[in-house]
Amino acid sequence: MTPPSAPVALPHKIATLLYVFDDADRVLLIERAREPNRGLWSPPGGKLETATGESPWACACREAREELGLHLQPHELHLAGIITEHGYAASAHWLMFLFEVRPRCSRLPPPIDEGRFAFVSRDDLATLPIPDTDRTAIWPLFWKHRHAFFAAHAHRHPNGSQTWTLESPPPPEPLAATATPALPNPNPAPDPDPDPDPATAVPPAEGTPVIDRTSDHFFMGEALRQAARAYHNDEVPIGAVIVHNGRIVARAHNQVECLGDATAHAEILAITQAETAIGDWRLNECTLYVTKEPCPMCAGAAVHARLGRVVFGAPDPKAGCAGGALNLLQFPAFNHRCAITGGIRESECRQLLRSFFAEQRRRPSDPLPSSEVRQDTDTA
Ligand SMILES: [Zn+2]
Repeated sequence: MTPPSAPVALPHKIATLLYVFDDADRVLLIERAREPNRGLWSPPGGKLETATGESPWACACREAREELGLHLQPHELHLAGIITEHGYAASAHWLMFLFEVRPRCSRLPPPIDEGRFAFVSRDDLATLPIPDTDRTAIWPLFWKHRHAFFAAHAHRHPNGSQTWTLESPPPPEPLAATATPALPNPNPAPDPDPDPDPATAVPPAEGTPVIDRTSDHFFMGEALRQAARAYHNDEVPIGAVIVHNGRIVARAHNQVECLGDATAHAEILAITQAETAIGDWRLNECTLYVTKEPCPMCAGAAVHARLGRVVFGAPDPKAGCAGGALNLLQFPAFNHRCAITGGIRESECRQLLRSFFAEQRRRPSDPLPSSEVRQDTDTA
């Protein structure tokens, strides 16, 4: 009854892949010990239990537990991409959910029946034996859209070749310098020379936008990167850097949840780092850049450390202590006062907080991350 030209009905198989990174941003891969991918390296993961109606998130958590010994909650998974492969090996269509695991993992899981594990840098990945499709399509898509989302479809032709189509919307065009940029990449490729020596710095090619690496705008951008790192780790997104003689000597982001410490605000962590870097607890020659107006604790610490100048992004009229609610940084009775500049890249700093709390509110079962949140919610 079926005409000979009708397509063969193939089953759909569903799988999840886990992209787990360590603190050095190396990715956890498994060298497959079994066919069809024996000897090839790929991210861990496995098939969805369709018989039980398992969700992709539940599958990813189960695979993380069974294969890696990681106990994850669904909200600790970022859906990095969806890949569909039509007619794989002429035996099935695949639907794959790619999850990046938000918490960093530095412990190498013990070998399992499926193979052995290793953390691999992005550079080393290029030299490892990996499946062709991973090399030509999936890894490039993953890196390009990392921390965002992509959906791609591979169509297999009768001659065995594949055509890939990116089905998610293209990434936004780069925004003009004056516009509000997207969430800064919290894990940018390591900057080979974050603070170049002006004498040896190569002048930018003609037409390349010049980045003024001495401006408040630039240093607040570095603080924003730190804030994005906090965002990525489900912490209230506040970041700080401290600059001494034009060089960044401290970078930190809010880690209250991660460290279980109410004093682990970005500014406090950055001040401690800067004191160590400079070898002096007096930071008179330093400038603190922070994405939100400091709270009473951090403003107090800035005065104690005798910070020369404090630059912040988003003001906090309810609880900020750089003139918003109080001005502890310039309190007349104190023996030190800090110069203050507010509102640098204010809209970007504020937007990051707003996005974070909007996302938190979309997760009703999830408690808000810290007691400071209410105050920050009001700010944002
Ligand atoms: Zn604080």
